Formats: sequence, C-alpha cells, structure tokens
Amino acid sequence: MRNAFPGRPLICLLAGMCLFVTGPSAAEEPVKQKTEDGIEVGKMSALRKIVPSEYVEAQALEQYNGLKQQAQQQGALAPDNDPQLKRLRGVAQRLVPHAARWNPEAAQWQWEVNLIGSKQLNAFCMPGGKIAFFTGLIDGLKLTDDEIAMVMGHEMAHALREHGRNRVAKGTALKLGASVASSLFGLKDVGQTVVNQGAQLMFLKFSRDDEIEADVAGLDLAARAGYDPRAGVTLWKKMAIVSKGAPPQWLSTHPAGTNRIAQIRSRLPQVMPLYARTRNTAVNKLPPYRTNVPQIAAVE
Ligand SMILES: [Zn+2]
Repeated sequence: MRNAFPGRPLICLLAGMCLFVTGPSAAEEPVKQKTEDGIEVGKMSALRKIVPSEYVEAQALEQYNGLKQQAQQQGALAPDNDPQLKRLRGVAQRLVPHAARWNPEAAQWQWEVNLIGSKQLNAFCMPGGKIAFFTGLIDGLKLTDDEIAMVMGHEMAHALREHGRNRVAKGTALKLGASVASSLFGLKDVGQTVVNQGAQLMFLKFSRDDEIEADVAGLDLAARAGYDPRAGVTLWKKMAIVSKGAPPQWLSTHPAGTNRIAQIRSRLPQVMPLYARTRNTAVNKLPPYRTNVPQIAAVE
C-alpha cells in the first residue's frame, strides 16, 4: 500500500472526524448502573440530545465513506485479506460484544474496521462504530494485540459515550446563544464572530474529561474481551518515546496531560479481575505483562 496521506491536510481531516468520534443517542439515559465489577458506567451529558444522533451518525458515515473512497483511489485501503487488517478485525470482534454495556444502542450499530496505508500515527472510531486505523500507528509503535485493544477500546469508548455528539451539541448551543445575544443587543457583527467560533469548536480536540472517560471505559472493554489492561501503560510509554521526536497525530487530538499513565494505573485494580476471569485465573497468578520492547515495563 502506498502512503496516501503524507502531509498535513489529513490532520485537519482527522480533527474534524474526531469531532464525530461518537455514537447515537441513548433513548434512555443510563443512570449509574451498579455493576459487580469493572468500571462503573456513569451518566452521559444531557446536552448532547439537542443534536439528533441520526444526524451525527449520517454525517459520520458520509465522512467515513469519503475517506475510504479517497484511500481506495490512492491504493491505500487495505484489502480484506490484508494480515494487519485481519488482526484489527479480530480484536474488534472480541471488543464489540462488550460495547452495549456502555451504550445500549450500540447493539444496533453496524461496526466496521478499516486500515489505511499512511504514516500517520492515528486511529479513530466514528458514530455508529466506524473504526479506522492508520498503518503508521501499528508499525510505528509496534503495537501488540493487547496494545491495539487499548487504542481500539479507547476510540470505541469515545463513540459509545457520544463525546463527538456532545461536542456538536455544544457548538450548536453556542450558536443559538450567539444569535439570541446578537438579536437582543443588536451586536450583529460580534454575534457573528461568536457563531463562527462556535462552528470552529467542532474541530477541536476532545476535552481532558472525555479522554479520561475514554481511557477507563476502553480499559474495561478490553479487559472483558481478554486483553491485558496493563498494555494501557506500555502503550502510553511507547507514545511518550515517539513523542520526543514529532508527536503522533493521535496525541494532538487526544490530550490528557502527563498523568495519563498514573490514571490508567490507578484503575488497574478495577479491571485486572475482569481480565483474570477471562484467563480462568486469579489476578495474583497472572504473569507480568511484557510488551515487545524489553525496555518498557508495565509496572514501574
Ligand atoms: Zn481520545
């Protein structure tokens, strides 16, 4: 496959997509469900409901199909028999059955996974479960299956928790507020400026809170699917290493500060039992997690 997207434009394209890294509406707001183990499913933002999920999903589908078509034309869309794509789809197949816990409507989603030949270190999941990975992320970080599950779980969590829809809703609310303000005070020009800024908000990266939620929900999803949650630590250590050169695009749309690894580690006691259960063993009987880079340890 050729590298279809060597330059900057894709970053913007992806930033736009990250906006839509979200899912459809939950007809019923999941009130804090008490579960016996794992990460507790919290409430989603009510504001997101001002934008219909169908609208966001339709937009997402259009963009996803557009990207696929563009990649196809450039010979950069991995064919179904591509070994890396098969690997990704294998991971997704194990994660998806656990998605509805985080958003009941996900049971109806038409999940899709594609791989695009590009040096970009990036991945996303759009509303309705449209996932794409770029070869640069898998190759550049030499991701293990467990680490792929961490990235995919994280991206799926953005979609399941409707972070993108919420982002669109916030932009819409700001627009509404601005037009009310400009008609009230006759500040047409000022109002228009705010409207324009509101539209631009749609292309911002996710908030810190969204990132933390995606991290922990992703850990839960991956652990239930039988992937070692400690790979969340090694994944971010690898990210930190490559960031010393040029930071990967994935980081530019996924801010979470320097304590991300500490956050993930603090959640391990909640998710390790889920993983151990899939191995039919106890947490203290599990071998230490080893990634494929010997210098990177999951523990310290
Ligand atoms: Zn993220």
